Amino acid sequence: MVTTGVESSPSSGYVLCPFCAEEIRSAAVKCKHCGEMIGGAKSTPAYFRPMGMFIAFLCVGPLMLPLVWWNPNHPRSTKLAITLVVVVVTGVLTWSTLSGIDRIMDYYRLLDDLGRQS
Ligand SMILES: [Zn+2]
Repeated sequence: MVTTGVESSPSSGYVLCPFCAEEIRSAAVKCKHCGEMIGGAKSTPAYFRPMGMFIAFLCVGPLMLPLVWWNPNHPRSTKLAITLVVVVVTGVLTWSTLSGIDRIMDYYRLLDDLGRQS
């Protein structure tokens, strides 16, 4: 295969490494010249993958939102949608926790009143 040195099409079976610009096979997952991992999903850190972000949300709730906005793989609309979902879920969970506490306090007041009557 003759290389022009400028660009090679993926159909030729070779692409340029995004890290060192050497020619590598398009199916390669690791550059043989510089050793970098090639390919979107495989080189994405765990905390930027959907499951990683979901686990982060379970652990720290809305404090994981910076991970969403620092993620270079998502367009702005996806970031806004994820932010909206996180805010809504956080709001619903906060409301249900507060109303649960309210209900428990009502039972304590009832028990207190019953205790005074007897
Ligand atoms: Zn390389």
